[in-house]
Amino acid sequence: QEIESSLLFKKIPVRGNSNAELYKMTETFNRMIDRLEESFVRQQQFVSDASHELNTTVTIVQGYASMLRRWGNQDKEIQNEAVNSIFEETKRMRIMTQQLLDLASFQHGVPLKFEKFDLAECCSEVISNLKQLYPRDIKLYNPQRKLNLYADRTKIKQLLLILGDNALKYSSETVEFHISSEEGNAVIYVKDYGIGIPADEVHHVFERFYRVDSSRHRKTGGTGLGLPIAKSIAQEHQGSISIVSTEGAGTEVKVEIPMDLIERSAK
Ligand code: ADP
Repeated sequence: QEIESSLLFKKIPVRGNSNAELYKMTETFNRMIDRLEESFVRQQQFVSDASHELNTTVTIVQGYASMLRRWGNQDKEIQNEAVNSIFEETKRMRIMTQQLLDLASFQHGVPLKFEKFDLAECCSEVISNLKQLYPRDIKLYNPQRKLNLYADRTKIKQLLLILGDNALKYSSETVEFHISSEEGNAVIYVKDYGIGIPADEVHHVFERFYRVDSSRHRKTGGTGLGLPIAKSIAQEHQGSISIVSTEGAGTEVKVEIPMDLIERSAK
């Protein structure tokens, strides 16, 4: 459900203002009102989407619980299906509520915990975490061996886990991490050769709750919040994230994090 502009905020009519100074002030005020209105609508949309997502999950869980109550005792197959589905849905809901809290902490400007660390080592740690979840081939390409970064290690690890998890979820072959430094930035590519994203949908994937095919991805346990969190983490570090994907061929996500954050923070 799309939230319409609320028209709660009233603008001052610009016409009829003969005083140039007043005219300029009115225009500035109206631009601020526009921005306020935009962020208000975005916030309302977010609350509506989050409620919708949580409501859907609760409805599904309730459906399976009522199945269990009616037939659970007589039918072992129904019992198994219901219990497994309730487990998967509540797991997804737990991940989603944690992700919602993460997004809220970015919005509230919770400060990052900066420290010096080696990105290559952090990336190896992420890969071994992912290997425990997916027994697959995950490669690390790192020509420079050591790559010193001054950033929030936990958040950078979370970003890498999100991208690696997506690459593994939406492909069945090798996943690659490439790290290097270019023009003062640490550059990370996470690459897969999986299902890819249709060209007309790729620009939506950083929107909260956006999933390319929600019914298909319900099975993969996705929430549509991973990439928005990854984007917030990159932006909080004054960096950027972008995605290039070809349907049926694979996806490449590029992250750039400035390496001079330690000098910038000293200023
Ligand atoms: P999710 O939890 O659903 O994976 P994300 O915000 O991480 O949510 O990603 C949004 C959507 O973008 C996913 O549902 C999926 O459709 C698409 N997507 C993200 N990464 C990939 C990838 N590596 N390959 C194919 N599709 C992807």
